Amino acid sequence: MTPLDLDGATVPQHSSGLTTRLILQYVERERGRGGVDALLEHAGLAEAEDRLRDEYSWFHFDTKNRLFESAAHVLDDPLAARRIGASALALNVGSGIKLALRAGGSTRLIYAGVVAVAAKLTRSHRWEIVELGRTHARLRARDVSGVGSHPATCEYNVGLLSCVPELFGMPPARVRHSLCALRGADHCVFDVRWLPRSTTRRTAVGWAGASIAAAGLTKRVAPHRLALASVVPVVGAGMVAWRSTLMSRRGWLSLEASVREHEEATDRLASSLHDLVSDLHEEEVLDKVVNNARGAVGGSEFALVLSDGPSKTSAGVSPDALEALELWVASSPKRLESPVAVVDLATVHELAPLAARRPVPLGSLCAAPLVFRDRHLGVLIALAPTHDGFLARDPALLESYAAQAAVALSQMETFETLESRAREDSLTGLFNHREFHEAADREIERCRR
Ligand SMILES: [Zn+2]
Repeated sequence: MTPLDLDGATVPQHSSGLTTRLILQYVERERGRGGVDALLEHAGLAEAEDRLRDEYSWFHFDTKNRLFESAAHVLDDPLAARRIGASALALNVGSGIKLALRAGGSTRLIYAGVVAVAAKLTRSHRWEIVELGRTHARLRARDVSGVGSHPATCEYNVGLLSCVPELFGMPPARVRHSLCALRGADHCVFDVRWLPRSTTRRTAVGWAGASIAAAGLTKRVAPHRLALASVVPVVGAGMVAWRSTLMSRRGWLSLEASVREHEEATDRLASSLHDLVSDLHEEEVLDKVVNNARGAVGGSEFALVLSDGPSKTSAGVSPDALEALELWVASSPKRLESPVAVVDLATVHELAPLAARRPVPLGSLCAAPLVFRDRHLGVLIALAPTHDGFLARDPALLESYAAQAAVALSQMETFETLESRAREDSLTGLFNHREFHEAADREIERCRR
């Protein structure tokens, strides 16, 4: 048995919690609570359920595969891993990513963006496009971390790749795992074929769902619930209109899922704001900014660099990396003014050390300034493990969280000013009457001891 990797700080983080959560949800759907207990017991992970269900956790490659093996055992289904991948859209996992993918607009564009999507799920393997046609794609996954391959992960990839067209109300793709690192090749190759969408009415409906969702998402996502909430009625109205034209069940389910994902994204953004403004201690506010943003752009690490004050990062960013980011922010006043994406960190002098980082290098970043009432407070930075590791929608979402962070930081400053004004006389800086008595009481108490 491989060692547990529940202290994420020291163990390489290969596989996203999106996958472990998916495994647990699938087993729960098939066998109920008892099945989940049996799964955790068999995998020796009974203590780790909360982390395994956390989409923002990361695990060792072996932990994920052990969970797949246990799922196959508990479900008595040798193809469990493939079925789990194929159920990714039906289960309540990764709604933020699904929403971003639907906004991509077509099956082909999602396979074209496989590099960025895969970066949200795995850091052990790098995905590449070998060939991309109108209705077929050849994709390749290469081990970049030395963990090797595992049959369950290959099967899971087949399932995941097959369900992409279902995002747009289409039947699943056919996936052939034509070359495998487990059979002597130095990488795994997957050949994917899907139906063209213009041939049936069903596909036309799928199109409509996708374009309605995309239309909503091309609006900039504002840093509060209203803007996103306004998207939901647009989609809802579209659903009613299409229902009357005998929409296929598949197309209907696709739209329904899309609406649910919009609602979840709205809720998440709203609860992040509530979370931030309800707490006014600097350390906690900064931690929360970073943690909440992880929910926005799944699979990424985060850093918050302030123009005046301490910087903050999520667990996967080392102090060295933070220092490089601070230098990069300081290298140009533009960083504090407008959002920017760097698709290859190795090409930028200040960021090159991040690309050489071990065990998991960083490949790309996107950054959004924290601006509140013309004050430039700092920069929120999302980091991906591969080149070009962000979806088209990610920068806009990052900006929403940066705007929230700016509001929270400004509010925190105001609060501190008010608190100190209440304590001191604003003209003389001397303690006010009440503070004087409290200070006197403290001194008397001290002398008594
Ligand atoms: Zn393989």
